[in-house]
Amino acid sequence: MRIVMIGSGYVGLVSGACFADFGHHVTCVDKSEAKINALEAGEVPIYEPGLEAIIQQNRSAGRLDFSKNLAPSVGEADVVFIAVGTPSRRGDGHADLSYVYAAAREIAAAVRGFTVVVTKSTVPVGTGDEIERIFREEFPQKDIEVVSNPEFLREGAAITDFKRPDRIVIGTENARAIEVMREVYRPLYLNEAPLYFCERRTSELIKYAANAFLAMKITFINEIADLSEKIGADVQKVAKGIGMDKRIGDKFLHAGPGYGGSCFPKDTLALVKTAQDFDSPVRLIETTVAINDNRKRAMGRKVIAACDGDVRGKKIAVLGLTFKPNTDDMRDAPSISIIQALLDGGATVHAYDPEGMEAAKDMLGPVTYGNDPYEIAADADAIVIVTEWDEFRALDLKRLKTVMKNPIIVDLRNIYPVSEVTKHGFGYFAIGKKPEK
Ligand code: NAD
Repeated sequence: MRIVMIGSGYVGLVSGACFADFGHHVTCVDKSEAKINALEAGEVPIYEPGLEAIIQQNRSAGRLDFSKNLAPSVGEADVVFIAVGTPSRRGDGHADLSYVYAAAREIAAAVRGFTVVVTKSTVPVGTGDEIERIFREEFPQKDIEVVSNPEFLREGAAITDFKRPDRIVIGTENARAIEVMREVYRPLYLNEAPLYFCERRTSELIKYAANAFLAMKITFINEIADLSEKIGADVQKVAKGIGMDKRIGDKFLHAGPGYGGSCFPKDTLALVKTAQDFDSPVRLIETTVAINDNRKRAMGRKVIAACDGDVRGKKIAVLGLTFKPNTDDMRDAPSISIIQALLDGGATVHAYDPEGMEAAKDMLGPVTYGNDPYEIAADADAIVIVTEWDEFRALDLKRLKTVMKNPIIVDLRNIYPVSEVTKHGFGYFAIGKKPEK
């Protein structure tokens, strides 16, 4: 099959490279000249484990190429995926669909024979209908079917998620489009692919409902964590105890500084807005959004409390900036609000992240960046673990204690056993457990 991916970001590039790896011919298109130039020069503009190798292999095999101009490849394509960004619209929180509609118009102008146009971007219910309306009114002679196929991959584990998904949701009732989509995904499975076909609007809602549910689960355990701290329980044990119940499940029950990233914050908000527009408010999600918004800055206050209520003139070392490990993505990362709260409190902030510092420099205020945890911990009044990168999981606590001014660790990811840290003489402030001063 000939596939074109419009938008070569976290989703487009991973999906495109993986489709090529399964034998399809893929062209990844992007408006960003810098991105396409980098890709053509053999560089990968994002950090995603394993991606570089797949891109290299498939380029050499002649199955994957890149372009700034969609017209030539779309003219030859069986399927065109739209994987452009759908950020929150400034001012009202609705999904900004301007990139999607602009891409759709460009695609329609370039299409020649029967082509399936697929929204892989996360788009609100009714977006497929609107794209179809644009095609019908502005390009009535073109033979195009519009399909919804939301993406569920997680950054940091994107390749495994894409190649071995729990399910592939496909929203279309058109027989020709169903056949094409079956063929697109057939090589992913030796036996039967977990394809789940449904109506397009249902498919669009599935993506938002899934993200909202996961965001709610995280927020639930975060509130239980706060309660645990107050009443002397241990949230990790509570999570384990409830997670063993198969009806609840043990995933997404890690208490932390609040969810961030490029999806949950914007998608929960967009669902709230859609639901309000349809006069069917989703109160659980509205509350989830509000709790999570407040939580990130509250984590800054937690650090200040751990420093005896005052960080003015103190040095705080922040370990981890990206919204999760194994990515360089800083979009809506909790570190942004936490660091802002610390700066507002008068602290000097030194930070280290294995992959996120380049992106962070454009987003954070006056922060000093270091090359490793020990460098930024020198003379620090406290260390804050914000992102649970592997390399922070087994720090040399003895060495840390000798370089720090005050041995305080605020562990917003609960990656250390309390006894391990206190044994080395640290004050330890985790999430959802009694503070050890
Ligand atoms: P991204 O910002 O990394 O990439 C989007 C790319 O599209 C950018 O490189 C941009 O230059 C390009 N673009 C915009 N308009 C274009 C046009 N008209 N023609 C060609 N290129 C254009 O975004 P992303 O993280 O890959 O997300 C893309 C979509 O997938 C969003 O709707 C997002 O919600 C959804 N999604 C993301 C994830 C994730 O983990 N990042 C997971 C599932 C779904």
